[in-house]
Amino acid sequence: MFLELRNNLNRFIEFLLNLVFIKKCIVCSCAKTDDLLCKSCAKAVHYLSGFPHKIYNEIPIYSAALYQDTVKSLIGNLKFKHKKTSAIVLGKILFDYFQKTGDKNKDYIICFVPSYFTKSATRGYNHMFLIAKEFSNLTGIEINKNLINKIKYTKPQYKSKNRQKNIKGSFRINNREINSIKGKTVILLDDITTSGATLEEILNCFIKKGIKNIICLTVAKAG
Ligand SMILES: [Zn+2]
Repeated sequence: MFLELRNNLNRFIEFLLNLVFIKKCIVCSCAKTDDLLCKSCAKAVHYLSGFPHKIYNEIPIYSAALYQDTVKSLIGNLKFKHKKTSAIVLGKILFDYFQKTGDKNKDYIICFVPSYFTKSATRGYNHMFLIAKEFSNLTGIEINKNLINKIKYTKPQYKSKNRQKNIKGSFRINNREINSIKGKTVILLDDITTSGATLEEILNCFIKKGIKNIICLTVAKAG
């Protein structure tokens, strides 16, 4: 009687542990995975070719995947639903894509399109920093998070009719950080590119300072 009770109790504990630690896909919530993404969500990452889709003043702009399906959900979950685990997968997507591109022997430094400080404060975290951190862990490339400053609040680019005008004059290259990138190639990361206006605005700031060793790498390409 006692043994049976103990066995039942053990089974019940095992059942509870399974409930708590069961691994679910972070996009579709199905339980058919040992990883963060299930097989079908992993398949629904639509990678782009290893070539830049745009060159701006000799600076290549690469995007890892199309802004669709899994990538679209992951970015939305990270930016608007506080699901920070998404950054792990997005950083890995950038890393997998980066293997297909360019010269691996360059001395790189990572920076990313910054958010205005009030934006990070309301969200509680800087989503691009989380993605950059994952990308940095996987590549072993250092991040400089103070190189680019966002100096004014702008409404989201997707809500703006004139994207170039909306973003104009809103970034600044931090002079105190320029020495730390001398002799290095900057990898400028962003989540989504649509018209390219944000990246181009930052690139203009770099070019004005005589910095041209840059590649842009975004997780997703929309439009
Ligand atoms: Zn899934």
